[in-house]
Parts: sequence; C-alpha cells; structure tokens
Amino acid sequence: MPRAPLDLTGKTFGALTVIRRAGSSPKGASLWLCHCARCGRDAVIEGHRLRDKRDCGCAYRESRADLSGQHIGVLQVIRREGSDKHGNILYLCRCDLCGGEKVLPASTIRARLASCGCKKTDPQRMEAMSPLGVAKQVYHGVQVIQATREEANRNSQTGVRGVFPFRGGYVAAVQIKGVRWRSGRYSTIEEAQKALAVQKEAMLDDAGVTDEVIAKFRPPKKPKK
Ligand SMILES: [Zn+2]
Ligand SMILES: [Zn+2]
Repeated sequence: MPRAPLDLTGKTFGALTVIRRAGSSPKGASLWLCHCARCGRDAVIEGHRLRDKRDCGCAYRESRADLSGQHIGVLQVIRREGSDKHGNILYLCRCDLCGGEKVLPASTIRARLASCGCKKTDPQRMEAMSPLGVAKQVYHGVQVIQATREEANRNSQTGVRGVFPFRGGYVAAVQIKGVRWRSGRYSTIEEAQKALAVQKEAMLDDAGVTDEVIAKFRPPKKPKK
C-alpha cells in the first residue's frame, strides 16, 4: 500500500521553511517550495533531501564564488589566499581606511566591516573625528596626509608651507601629534624651509611615520600613459 505523502508544509530545516508542495520530480520524488531565510530566495527542493539541508544551497554557492576584484564595504578584495582550517576561503584585502593589507575569510568580507580592524586601535580618536576622510589619514596618532602635505596654504605669505615672515626674516613652524616646533629666525625663505624639512622628518620618524608608511598613505603617482 503506498504511503500517504508526508505533509511538510510549515516545517523548518535550518534556514528553510516549507511553503507548499510543488508537485513531483520526474523520478517521483515529492517537491516542496521552500523559503530560504539565509538569502531570502525561494527554492524547490526534493522532500527527502530537506532533512540534510540548512539552506537552499546559497552558502555553498557563495563559498565557491570568487570575490577577487570586488569592492565590498571598505575592503578591496585583491586575490584568493587559500583557506583556513575551517575550510573558509581566505582573501587578501586592502582596507580603504588604513591602506593596510590583510587576509580575511570570505564570510568576514561579506559582513561589510566598518574597517579591517584598524579602526578599533584608536576608537576614541576615530570617534572624535569625522569618520571616513580623517580615519584614512591617521597613523600612530599622526594625520599623515596633513603632516606631509607640501602645498602651501592659500593664504601663505611666503608660498612655502610652514614658513612665515617674522621680524624682517622668516621662521619655520610645524605641528605633529599636537607638538608644535618653531624655528629661530632665518634671513631667507630657503634657509627656513631647509630647517623645517629636517625638523619635520625627525618628528615624523619619532612618531613612527617612516617613508614606507607615508608611501602607503600617499601612493606614488601612477606614470602617465
Ligand atoms: Zn538561500
Ligand atoms: Zn584598515
């Protein structure tokens, strides 16, 4: 005697909820229309396969999809870097905020993090400043872009950034990490500029802002085609 088909309507299997019967497969298996809460899609699945399922197959599809080249949240996905011990596929990513590169599992990348983790290092400072623009520029508490800017301010009286007219001569001044340095009086702009460059480099070095760090914040301009 043929068994009466089980009614699975309303039953759940992981993220799947059975909506209604959807006929039979060519081989005679009962088909069920299911809603997958994980991805929000509906899928028709054979009844006997439902017990082993936790989703419509979206997790597997996503795990196989290559994220390389995509820009997700603050991360630019560069390339695959194998997988971790749990079988999660790893990708090398570059963070928009700190410019740092980090290997992250696909699931983490998909979560659209607010940062690669760099934002956590100095939360108070980050909170105090406008989010994206400034966060991009801070390294060890130094606003790198601002500290290494070469162009003079628009209202500069000498045309040289950090050099100001003073008692018939010129002084240089620079502020890094809240520490302000001011030179003595020089008779020419060039002398003041030179003193400033030396001082600035020393102060940046002291703060850990090496040439390598600066290069990260100020990538070398691409050669023109
Ligand atoms: Zn799904
Ligand atoms: Zn980062």
